[in-house]
Amino acid sequence: ESFAEAEIPENVLNCCRNFAKPSPIQAHAWPFLLKGRDFIGIAATGSGKTLAFGVPALMHVLKGKNSFQKQFSPLVLVLSPTRELAQQIADVLEEAGGSCGVKTACLYGGTSKGSQRNALKSGAAMIVATPGRLQDLVEEGSCSLKDVSFLVLDEADRMLDLGFEPAIRAIVSQIPKRRQTVMFSATWPIAVHQLAMEFQEPNPVKV
Ligand code: AMP
Repeated sequence: ESFAEAEIPENVLNCCRNFAKPSPIQAHAWPFLLKGRDFIGIAATGSGKTLAFGVPALMHVLKGKNSFQKQFSPLVLVLSPTRELAQQIADVLEEAGGSCGVKTACLYGGTSKGSQRNALKSGAAMIVATPGRLQDLVEEGSCSLKDVSFLVLDEADRMLDLGFEPAIRAIVSQIPKRRQTVMFSATWPIAVHQLAMEFQEPNPVKV
């Protein structure tokens, strides 16, 4: 498995320039995600999972051409359990998007909303968010989910452990059904399986 085989444009692959080859989860995920399939990855942090969904997310935005500068209406949404993890993912996506003109906003609680509203206003095509703060910004009208067509639930098991299930359901109910849905989880409890059955196509790829 090599980067050349992955058929990913050079400006997108720039984010992998320091890596010798795709990590196993990347090699497994990319072909399916680039085809538009729903995907379940059982993988822990450290596996390279951020770019496993990050590279296809970026290509998803670039495919949309003009739509990637719209204010308050992102195309890619990554839900994450904690502020630290959200920030970590957003840093990776921001760096990866930098070579292609795609902006990322990071939305989390415990801090003022002003700069997060500004990031949405500046036309972030990708957002990484914790569920509570995202709901808050959606309810006040600072963020619309109507254009989201690439959804990632990262660390799904941990989000459920932290009690985010109602918030996740409320958020996903506002995202159009015509979308690609990617789930990553370190474990596969029944509650996560249940969400996958509700949110994804009937036969998602599971790795
Ligand atoms: P993640 O699981 O996404 O948190 O990534 C864990 C670490 O692996 C990060 O420091 C990445 O920079 C690094 N990484 C991601 N993809 C690769 C790769 N293909 N080869 C080597 N390291 C990688």
